[in-house]
Formats: sequence, C-alpha cells, structure tokens
Amino acid sequence: MKTVDILGVPVATYTMKEARDTIARQLKDGRKTRGEKAPWLVATANAEMIMMATGNPALMEVLNGADLVVPDGAGTVWAAHELGYRMPERVAGYDLVQELLKIAPAKENGFKVFFFGSAPGVAEGAKAKAEALYPGVQVVGCHNGFFSEADEQEIVREINDSGADLLLCALGVPKQELWIRKYLPELKVSAAIGVGGTLDVMAGTMKRAPLWMQKAKLEWAYRVILQPSRIGRLAALPRFVLAVKRAKRR
Ligand code: UDP
Repeated sequence: MKTVDILGVPVATYTMKEARDTIARQLKDGRKTRGEKAPWLVATANAEMIMMATGNPALMEVLNGADLVVPDGAGTVWAAHELGYRMPERVAGYDLVQELLKIAPAKENGFKVFFFGSAPGVAEGAKAKAEALYPGVQVVGCHNGFFSEADEQEIVREINDSGADLLLCALGVPKQELWIRKYLPELKVSAAIGVGGTLDVMAGTMKRAPLWMQKAKLEWAYRVILQPSRIGRLAALPRFVLAVKRAKRR
C-alpha cells in the first residue's frame, strides 16, 4: 500500500474506488481468518484528526498501527500536495461508507454491517435509510454510543453475535479510534471504521454541507454554522497549515 507521511500520520494515497475495493477484499478475506487474525482498523483522517494526533500520543499510535488511513478532507489532500506527494483525491468517510453499503448486498459480497454509536435512535434511523437506499443491505445490529465502561464487554458480545463483517463506529474522534483499538483482539468482524458523524447524516439528524460548499472546500465552515459549539475545533485548521508549512521547510 502506498502511504505518505503527513505530520507523522501514514495516509494512503488511494482513490475512493481503491479504498473501497481494498476494504471489500478484506471483508471477504477476514471471514476466512476470523478469530485468528485481528480485524482491520480503518481511520478517516481529516486535518483536525491529524492535528489532534500530533498532540495525542495514544491516537498517533493507533493511526500508525492502523491497516488503512484514508484522506478524509480537503485539508489532508492539500497537505499531501504541499509536501510534494501525489494524492489523487479526497476519500471522505461518509462517502466511503455509502460506497461500501452500496456494494454490500451484491451476491458475491453479502457483507453484514453493524452500526455502533451516536445518540439513541440514530443508528436505527441510519439503518432504515440504508435499507431504503441499498435494497438487500444487511444491517445486522445497532447500538447507541452513550454507554459506560461496564457495558463495553456486552457491546463487544453483541457485535460478535450479530455476525457482522463490518463495524461502523461513530463515537467521535478520538474515542472511536481508541475504542476500536482497545477491542480489536476481541472483535470478530473483518474491519472496523471510525465514522464520526456519518450515522447522524444518514439518519437526518445532521446535514452534510451542500455540494458546492464541499467543492469549494468549505465543509468545515458549514459544520460550524450548524454546530456553533465546534468553533473551538476550528483553531486546529490554521495550526495544521502552519505545521505542514514547517514540515515542508524541513
Ligand atoms: N458520540 C457518541 N458517544 C460519545 C460521544 C459522541 O456516540 O460518547 C457520537 C455523537 O453522537 C456523534 C458522533 O459521535 O454522532 C461524533 O460526530 P462528530 O461529527 O463530532 O465526529 P468527529 O468530527 O469527531 O469525527
């Protein structure tokens, strides 16, 4: 796999199609080695996540040990280009999930998916949406993302008993990456992806920026308008730009 180093995070230079096909292959292969080999940990790295990792050794370690980190966000693609690497396109987590759900029901795939995370009811709403959009898709379990540590073993059991191939984990960054990493040896799925607000968008509790804003690389601004509490997180963006420029000089 081709990866490039962005502030210490190894990001794959895959197109959306390559990322989807790589994960699909693992979803099949993982069935053969279930219980012997740990599942894949997939992360979708935007500028905010990379910047957070530079100050959070636990997250940095998880990302360095991940099986696949895709470039989620215009900032990540910009950084790769700024550092002189080829990076064909952005692989947004939300879009990657849609691509995987789209091919999941195909006869040769039959991927089963578990939706874990977000507020109570959201995963179920996302499941209904997935079933409407992708006929035949098997969402074999849902569990909300507000739980205590004492519940975690039960959640792992629920995921394993569901027979899911793919776990979508929507607990926010870095909770979802750390949670997946912690339970990776026990999880009997083939791959687990940290998907942030994806279930919220699917369930309709949060809206994605209009296409023109995504194209104008303004998705971050839209999120702040919708959720003003995110304003503090914006500070990561200029810090990211400065850190990349500094890395470039070096
Ligand atoms: N969330 C959760 N459990 C928690 C904290 C957050 O399930 O303890 C969910 C939250 O409801 C939301 C998602 O995690 O659905 C985080 O979405 P956000 O867009 O903030 O993701 P990020 O930008 O952190 O990837």
